[in-house]
Amino acid sequence: MEAEKWMEQSEGAILHTYNRYPVILDRGEGVYLYDTEGKKYLDFAAGIAVQALGYGNQVYNDALKGQIDRLLHTSNLYYNRPVAEAAEKLCRVSGMDKVFFTNSGAEAIEGAIKAAKKYAYAKDGRTDHEIIAMEHSFHGRTLGALSVTGNAHYREPFEPLPGIVKFAEYNSLDSVKSLVNDRTCAILMETVQGEGGIYPAEETFLTGVKQLCEERGILLILDEIQCGMGRTGHMFAWQGYGVKPDIMACAKALGCGVPVGAFLMTESVAEASLKPGDHGTTYGGNPFVGAAVSKVLDIFAEQNLVEHVREISAYLEECLEKLKKDYTFISARRGVGLMQGLELSIPVSEVSTKALEEGLILITAGGNVLRFVPPLVIEKAHVDEMMEKLRKVFAEY
Ligand SMILES: *Cc1c(COP(=O)(O)O)cnc(C)c1O
Repeated sequence: MEAEKWMEQSEGAILHTYNRYPVILDRGEGVYLYDTEGKKYLDFAAGIAVQALGYGNQVYNDALKGQIDRLLHTSNLYYNRPVAEAAEKLCRVSGMDKVFFTNSGAEAIEGAIKAAKKYAYAKDGRTDHEIIAMEHSFHGRTLGALSVTGNAHYREPFEPLPGIVKFAEYNSLDSVKSLVNDRTCAILMETVQGEGGIYPAEETFLTGVKQLCEERGILLILDEIQCGMGRTGHMFAWQGYGVKPDIMACAKALGCGVPVGAFLMTESVAEASLKPGDHGTTYGGNPFVGAAVSKVLDIFAEQNLVEHVREISAYLEECLEKLKKDYTFISARRGVGLMQGLELSIPVSEVSTKALEEGLILITAGGNVLRFVPPLVIEKAHVDEMMEKLRKVFAEY
């Protein structure tokens, strides 16, 4: 079979850092994917919360094609129009003041950390600043991002990692308070933990941390890479809490398939942190990704996608709650908007593999959690179809 050949070829030449599902996805349309054999899949993973618009959005595709023919890349030594537009729009929807575009989420975290360190250094000239991050967090695979990732399994082989990082218990203000000292320069967390098992920040926790930051002159960095871009029914999850970060990291759905991330900050951080020479990137924010981000933000506004997420996610939640009542092996449902998780007492990777066989793409998260991060454009009928397929899988247990 054709597919076998591609899989063998991949395993022959690509470094084996992923245990992949045995399928070769070949094309997409709406919220469906098709493999090389023509089999159809309902996609409730969106390429890990990336494909917010689903597949084959013609307006988006045309914008990319137009930019390809005009200009792909210039370097950051020159201005370019698409990124100027993208930056202005991203600042407007986030209420942040300044943005730096990166090529990935991990790089956005790296930049956010550098901005916080430079800010603290500019203030007191010390070089022993500490960062407080959260247990069970995930911020990416580069060394800096790994240093703040609260999963010892990911970190240990690569120790010592850069920086002085302490890990607090997520959703425990006391735990955070116990780690704060006069060298603490930033507190970093995901507004909703993704890879760690879909844990939203509790409101009292996030507002408490924000207050602590203000009292102690510490910067609050929120990682909105997975939970941002409309996924929770707010453009950025923190907007639902009314807790504005000093620095924010964004990626995944920002480019809807084009590799781009960003870190953003308030004017007061920008004024006293990274200056010419302190940070840079060759590709970051080039005209091509600029056109992508700019068009993504236009489509979000035109389709009122954030409002759509609020409506459709209420229905998804209701359906998942029904599932929880019907199957005793579902121990919890957690999540906000279209970022949902079911904690199972049956092997979750087995469930996602069986779902794939049923034509349903679902992924997992830490702590035996089945993760639902579909394209934001899903409709009720897609939720019903997902439920039908998932019930077929669950019936085997
Ligand atoms: C995916 C993710 C990252 C890392 O993004 P990459 O683009 O894979 O580097 C960081 N933080 C969170 C919360 C993520 O979900």
